[in-house]
Amino acid sequence: MDVDLGKSICTCRFWQITGMPCVHACATISKINRNPEDFCHHWLTMEAYRDTYKHSLNPIPGQDLWERSEQNRSHAPKMKRKPGPITQKDGKMLMKSHLMSRSQKLKSS
Ligand SMILES: [Zn+2]
Repeated sequence: MDVDLGKSICTCRFWQITGMPCVHACATISKINRNPEDFCHHWLTMEAYRDTYKHSLNPIPGQDLWERSEQNRSHAPKMKRKPGPITQKDGKMLMKSHLMSRSQKLKSS
């Protein structure tokens, strides 16, 4: 594997994808007595983490304190037929010919 510490790249592409030095880069970094953390992408540093969460998040009231809407609530559509095979009232399964579409019946006759 070829490692370029100046460009922060390795031919295995792990470093470019994750921002963290791969094992090949870490081996190269250790040869020059440097810390691999110094070669991580800025996004992976504690400074970037602290910058992300430095703003305070305001809590919101619980669901029981939400304002009630005067509009109708939405409901799930009514089921016209239960899923599963179509049966007659006496419980017998319908024959396949009953399930064929009209065009299929016309072709077969
Ligand atoms: Zn590598």
